[in-house]
Amino acid sequence: MIRKAVLNDGYDGHKRSDITVSTLIAPPQINVLRKKFRDFIVVDVEDRLYSLFGSAIHKVFEQANDKDIIEERFFTKIKGMSLSGQVDRLIPSENKISDWKFTGVNKILYSNFEDWEKQLNCYAHLARLNDYQIDKLEVVAVLRNWEKMKVTTQQNYPDSMIQVVDIPVWSEKKIKAFIEKRIELHQDAKGGRIQPCTDEEKWTKDHVWAVMKKGRKSAVKLYKDKKELPKLSAEQYIQFRQGESLRCKHYCDVRDFCPQHEKETADAK
Ligand code: SF4
Repeated sequence: MIRKAVLNDGYDGHKRSDITVSTLIAPPQINVLRKKFRDFIVVDVEDRLYSLFGSAIHKVFEQANDKDIIEERFFTKIKGMSLSGQVDRLIPSENKISDWKFTGVNKILYSNFEDWEKQLNCYAHLARLNDYQIDKLEVVAVLRNWEKMKVTTQQNYPDSMIQVVDIPVWSEKKIKAFIEKRIELHQDAKGGRIQPCTDEEKWTKDHVWAVMKKGRKSAVKLYKDKKELPKLSAEQYIQFRQGESLRCKHYCDVRDFCPQHEKETADAK
């Protein structure tokens, strides 16, 4: 039953426009491979559950508040391509867009919000083209692996499972240039000129050497360069942590069909 609900979650953005905001900001190579191997890609139902939870939350908002605009898809045409983006909640009385995200605690701990910033500024651009004034952007983040116990034991740990993150608002000039550049990259990829995914896009983590202390789980300090390692005390030891591309390894649904990933995996052996 859960599987059926997930597969029928009503998402149709990819059918109603050439490209959605989520695809626009993602690596073009992923989009090309997804289209090419559509019939062979295995979707993890568990991963899609969070989007189903998001839709359920929107329904609650919809019933509780008829002044805000909930789950509205906006459209435009840029460089011959139709672009659409679905805004979770637009609050006209505050000139604000608010987006719900289910995410891990690390996202907040490392203030890693670049993808949210790009996505929400694209939404703001689309909303403005539809005559809404947007001056504020926020993400309401639900931390799926949040642990109450860690609030008192771990430094900078988020104090609640729900965190509201203010997102910087870009100028119209900046967001327009960004969207045009991304459209060009996707058009090039469609025409066969596919740019390899960058380290940033692959969420690449470098190798590190961790100085560890007996009896302690977390590292005392991490070093990217082995030459910088300090002299160790009797209680300390070194742990080498292999770098990896997190997206390729754990989150990219086209990794089994990706020539770049295949080559990089073979080179690393
Ligand atoms: S597997 Fe890695 S390199 Fe290949 S498309 Fe996915 S993110 Fe890009």
